[in-house]
Amino acid sequence: MGEELKGFIFDLDGTIYLSERLIPGADWVIRLLRHRGAKVVFLSNKALQTRENYAEKLTRLGIPTEPAEVINSSFVMVRYLTKRAPEATVFAVGEVPFIEELLRAGFVISEDPDRIEWVIASFDRTFDYRKLCIAYEALKRGARFVATNPDRTCPIEGGELPDCAGVIAHLEAVTLRKVEAIVGKPSPLTIEAILEVMDLPANECLLVGDRIETDIRMGREAGMKTALVMSGVTDEQTLKASPYQPDYVWPSIAELPGIL
Ligand SMILES: [Mg+2]
Repeated sequence: MGEELKGFIFDLDGTIYLSERLIPGADWVIRLLRHRGAKVVFLSNKALQTRENYAEKLTRLGIPTEPAEVINSSFVMVRYLTKRAPEATVFAVGEVPFIEELLRAGFVISEDPDRIEWVIASFDRTFDYRKLCIAYEALKRGARFVATNPDRTCPIEGGELPDCAGVIAHLEAVTLRKVEAIVGKPSPLTIEAILEVMDLPANECLLVGDRIETDIRMGREAGMKTALVMSGVTDEQTLKASPYQPDYVWPSIAELPGIL
């Protein structure tokens, strides 16, 4: 089975690192794969940083990485909007790096509800009543409503933070509208972006992640091989109860060479 795998997709938080700490062996495994000529990409649902920021962090932790090898939900959102509404006027409930990414991609950022064509919900630790009011007014006037990722919480060292689901819920609750698209994992929009970057058929790819309902679910639905690592958010009980069973279950990424 191993010899047909040509592409490897790695979730970041809980799979490659935990906060600022590399999962032991991750650097060695990535080096081995690259040495064998495999394609490697890294995947995150977080829109808090740009692809450049993630590449810098991986490089700093001992895995030299180019921005083009990183796919995160802000990149998938930019790709999604560029195809459907290039140069549209948008309002993002999100943090500065995400807004800068939208500006760089040619979108117009506005806080005027009469001009806003798209409202984008994202993980935003600066979310406040002013932003809620702008989004509310724009959505009431018929702006489109999309979000970067469905995660309820984001794991950090020693706990979790409320994530994008909290922002989506606020906007849905006050407008009675339903978000039209959530582009991050496990959306097929993320798979599309991965396969475009990988330039490989899905069945030649292995997706490695620590969260069953996003990583493993998405990999399975795309026709990829999947490996669940127990170094992140999933415990044995969750694994047993899930309808999305992975092809492999490993204590950590360090086990990967066993299937090559
Ligand atoms: Mg993860």
